[in-house]
Amino acid sequence: KQDLELVSVSKRYGRTTAVDAINYHFKSESYTCLLGPSGCGKSSTLRMIAGHESVSDGAILLAGRNISNLPPAQRGTAMMFQNYALFPHLSVLDNVAFSLKMKGVDTVKRHAQAREMLDLVDLTDLAERLPDQLSGGQQQRVALARALITRPQVLLLDEPLSALDPFLRVRMRAELRKLQKELGISFIHVTHGQDEALALADEIIVMNNAVIEQAGPARDVFNSP
Ligand code: ADP
Ligand code: ADP
Repeated sequence: KQDLELVSVSKRYGRTTAVDAINYHFKSESYTCLLGPSGCGKSSTLRMIAGHESVSDGAILLAGRNISNLPPAQRGTAMMFQNYALFPHLSVLDNVAFSLKMKGVDTVKRHAQAREMLDLVDLTDLAERLPDQLSGGQQQRVALARALITRPQVLLLDEPLSALDPFLRVRMRAELRKLQKELGISFIHVTHGQDEALALADEIIVMNNAVIEQAGPARDVFNSP
């Protein structure tokens, strides 16, 4: 079982407690949305899981293994950012293959894997373009492919749809959900939008003031008083 567990996880920045001893058990192969007002600790939680931020207290376990102190690339997690953070001077293919290059995978192998990922997100024909020759929705798919090429057990998405226009946003929701099912991995998706969470999630976590206020199956969370 590839379950992810947060055990009394806290994050402090100086005197600010951004995340206050939260506990949560993410089921494997589930789509979880993390909701809550700005500043409640959503991004800090995601960044601690990804390893882009250290935990101040507590532990993060993936498949029973404590990953809290591992570097991001060794955790079995991958993160897709709000602004996509693509390298402007690299082709789509090289952007997707980048992490494999860092690992020393040879050109032929990493390009083959990158093409496989581009197929997965329907960008087969755009491999040689530069990021600024793509639409917002296409850039977002490149960022997805780039995160997925590391074969994570858990994909972390920080407001992945917020830069898209409303039409694309709704379409990408469906694509994200489909991808999660196909890959059979867990997605943890931070969003401001209740409608987005309800459309996507198996489970919803509502954070407020650094703690988990409510959590459970999507329907239960929104139907409770
Ligand atoms: P959210 O993602 O829900 O908007 P964040 O996790 O970004 O919340 O932030 C939670 C709290 O921690 C906020 O009060 C924010 O100002 C603070 N915070 C976040 N990152 C830092 C940081 N690098 N240094 C200091 N304070 C931070
Ligand atoms: P968002 O609001 O989009 O969730 P933020 O704007 O809170 O994200 O965070 C963007 C970056 O700024 C992060 O790297 C975060 O650590 C940093 N940051 C956020 N709040 C603070 C803060 N109060 N002091 C210092 N850095 C912060």
